Parts: sequence; structure tokens; C-alpha cells
Amino acid sequence: MTSAASTPDTSRPEARAQVQPKAEGWEQQRTAEGRPLLQFASPRVKQPPQHFADLSLEERQTKVKELGLPAFRAKQLSTHYFQHWTTDPDAMSDLPKAGRGELVEGLFPPLLSEVRRLRTDDGNTIKFLWRLFDGALVESVLMRYPGRITLCVSSQAGCGMNCPFCATGQAGLTRNMSTAEIVDQVVAANRIIAAGELGQQEHPDERVTNIVFMGMGEPLANYKRVMNAVHRFVDPVPMGLGMSARNITVSTVGLVPAIRKLADEDLPVTFALSLHAPDDELRDELIPVNNRWKVDEALDAAHEYYRKTGRRVSIEYALIKDMNDHAWRAALLAKKLNQRGRGWVHVNPIPLNPTPGSIWTSSERHVQEEFIETLRAAGIPTTLRDTRGKEIDGACGQLAAAE
Ligand code: SF4
Repeated sequence: MTSAASTPDTSRPEARAQVQPKAEGWEQQRTAEGRPLLQFASPRVKQPPQHFADLSLEERQTKVKELGLPAFRAKQLSTHYFQHWTTDPDAMSDLPKAGRGELVEGLFPPLLSEVRRLRTDDGNTIKFLWRLFDGALVESVLMRYPGRITLCVSSQAGCGMNCPFCATGQAGLTRNMSTAEIVDQVVAANRIIAAGELGQQEHPDERVTNIVFMGMGEPLANYKRVMNAVHRFVDPVPMGLGMSARNITVSTVGLVPAIRKLADEDLPVTFALSLHAPDDELRDELIPVNNRWKVDEALDAAHEYYRKTGRRVSIEYALIKDMNDHAWRAALLAKKLNQRGRGWVHVNPIPLNPTPGSIWTSSERHVQEEFIETLRAAGIPTTLRDTRGKEIDGACGQLAAAE
């Protein structure tokens, strides 16, 4: 319990430095008015070939019928892909041999080719770099924890949100990823786990249990395809991957109309708002989409998500030295959250790596502690993310990419 004597005095801004966000080593694209450019719509570029995972079960049945096969073949093919994670025609011995190769090739065009794989020493974290059909590069990160395996997926090639700390944002948005490109990251990860390539296996039936949309891109800017992918994740085996919706985290930097839409879906996913600052003055610079939807609007939408779904919301907050880590900001954040009620929200401060010479560097330990204590003293459940949390957030809403 926190005694009143140890509660930090946050009644007035302390006389600490205020570092302003700015891009380092690259120029942020700006509008004529000098605001960071935001791109909401994907450029009209060639889309990847249609893949089995782009289709709902009914669409898959229609597709196989169009190919002159009975509808039940759709279920067999679903079993191969969503349950056995295979697209190898030789493994599909329940399908007629004649024409099997062509059928499978047509339904499962390769979408991701592996460019690079980085593995931590203990083998429990693997980062993948994938090349898409048009040469665009995206990442996913696979992490083993006791009792669960999490995959951080990308939802767009590039990103249009132009956050000054983020390498992904530099080149703008290349295009939205297709539903199947998103799903195939998980299927590929399941194959790798099944092959025993992720650290020490706990049991032979292991697979991805948790998905976080915190890779490249702003998921809610690619709303329809991301939602379709979530359906593939939660649809029961073999129609989909049979995962629990609550183990899927959809994060956003604050696209308010899309948050409202998400709250109306019948999909109780975990929702995370990458806030990083409670005041518009700082957040306008740190998360440029704040120029469109302000902190209070984003928090109202997050609270509405809680009211409609009953799911507690996560607030992501990367602690950056002298930029957003002041105790008065923790107090302001707590005040804004408490104004909307109790028990609806959880704050996850994220420690950064120390980066000497960069403005994007870690808060000092005692400052982190004061920030967390201030939130807790105000009754806000707060958990410092572990260091792998930081790694997974390499692209979105977090700052590892700046390093
Ligand atoms: S931090 Fe996330 S939203 Fe911002 S530019 Fe990077 S990928 Fe996009």
C-alpha cells in the first residue's frame, strides 16, 4: 500500500527539461501548413493474388464449386491450411491426385518469402523479415513465454501515420496488406513452432496462442482486412485457427471512428491505445494523428470500447527521457482515466533501451518508478512491460525502431 508520505507531489509541473519530439536522421514529410503528413488511404497499387485465407468459408465453398469440385473439398483444404499449416499438395492425400498440384497452386499462391530471421541467444524470440509479392518488406516477431506463445504481426507495408520516432513511418504507406498476408504470418509461425525451432518446446501441440497487431502499420487504417484476419484467427478449427478473441490485441494510435466501429463488432478482442502522452501539446508532435483526433476523443472512444464490450482497455505508454516521463504527466493521465470511471483501463509503460546521443532514449530508473507510482497511487492498475515487450513493439507505437 502506498502511504500518503510516499505519494509524489504532482500538483505542478516540475522544473525538468522538456525534450521535443523530432525525427532523427530523416525528414518527416509535411503538409503545406507544416503539419506532419498523414496518409489514411492505401495507394492504388497492385494487390497480391487471391489466397484461400482471403475467403470466408462460404466464399471458399463457392470457389471450389467454381473449380468443378464438391463443396466439402473446401473443408478439407481448410483443414490442411488452418489445422496442419500445410500448402504442400503431397500432404493432401484426401484430395484426388489428378489436378491436385494445380488446384493447390491456384488456391495457395506463396505470399511471404523469408528474407531474414534473427533469433535471440535462448531461441525464445525470433524476428522474421518477409518479402511480399511486390517486393515490399514486413516483419513479424515470435515470442515464447511460459504457457503462451505470442506473435506480433504487421498489417500494412509501411505506414501513413508519420510518427517521428518510427522507422516504418519514414517512407509512408506502401499499401495495405491483404487478409491472407496477415493470416499467413501466423500460419508460418505455427509451422516453425511445430518444427521445434522456437526455444524449448513445452508440449508437442504448441502453436501461437496470442497475437498482437503491433508490427508494421496502423491496423485500424486497414480495418476491413484486419477484421477479416481476426475472423480467420477466431473461427473454429478447421474453418479458422480456433484462437480466443481475448488473446488477440488490436492496437491503434487513435483512429477514433475506427475504434467506435471496432466496439460495435461482435468480437471481444483486447484493445490497446498507444497514447504516449496525455496532453495534446506534446501528443500533436509525438503521434501526428493527434492533430486529427485529440487525446480526450481517443480516450472517450477507448472508454466506449470498454462500455460496449466489457473488455478492459490497455493504454501503451513508452517512457522517453525528459519528453513524456514527467510525474505531472502521469498525474494528468490518471486524472483523465479516472474521470471516465474506475476499473476500465490498465496502463502499460514501456521502458526504452538506453540510446546515448539520441532524444529517443530511456527514462532514468527513478523517473520510471515515480511515473508508475503516481499512476498506481491514483488507483490506475499499471504494469511495466518486460523487455521483450519492447522488442515486439519494434515498429508500432513504440520506439525500438528509432534505435
Ligand atoms: S509508430 Fe506505428 S502508427 Fe506510428 S508510424 Fe510507426 S507503424 Fe505507423
